[in-house]
Amino acid sequence: MDLKNYIADVPDFPEEGIIFRDISPLMADGEAYRFATNEIVKYAKDKGVDMIVGPEARGFIVGCPVAYELGIGFAPARKKGKLPRETVEVSYGLEYGNDILQIHKDAIKPGQKVLVCDDLLATGGTIAATIKLIEQLGGEVVGTAFLVELSELKGRNKIEGYDILALMEY
Ligand code: IMP
Repeated sequence: MDLKNYIADVPDFPEEGIIFRDISPLMADGEAYRFATNEIVKYAKDKGVDMIVGPEARGFIVGCPVAYELGIGFAPARKKGKLPRETVEVSYGLEYGNDILQIHKDAIKPGQKVLVCDDLLATGGTIAATIKLIEQLGGEVVGTAFLVELSELKGRNKIEGYDILALMEY
């Protein structure tokens, strides 16, 4: 299946000169969404993953069905102030600004093999921050999975040494 048929290219969003790759047509198509999910499930099985983490908000959309299919847990990494219990945090630079990402302190048990899922790898700031959160809690990041990689932004350089699955590349 050519998943790129389900990505909408939106010029000049959120600002002029940027082509936003919108994954919502993929999610809206049951067959495409399931196909993409199953590709990540296969990858997760190969890696022996026992926990999924996804950064807010589209990381939930990608990661949760993978966790469900594998019968393992999912933990959200969220913007500061959203999680109700004790958290650890990391501050990071995004493609469009700066932010703080948090995860519940008890979300990951030391030694757990974690797969990080998100919709898109751009500059790599979000994924690098998410990896830091997991490692602060003693988790082992055994892989990262994305629907889309924007390769010209060189996000993979920010997470050198970590394995990457990207279902589409632009
Ligand atoms: P990074 O931190 O620069 O790698 O940006 C990745 C994050 O920004 C992901 O969580 C994406 O959801 C979001 N993002 C950046 N660019 C796009 C895009 O073109 N389409 C969809 N999401 C994007």
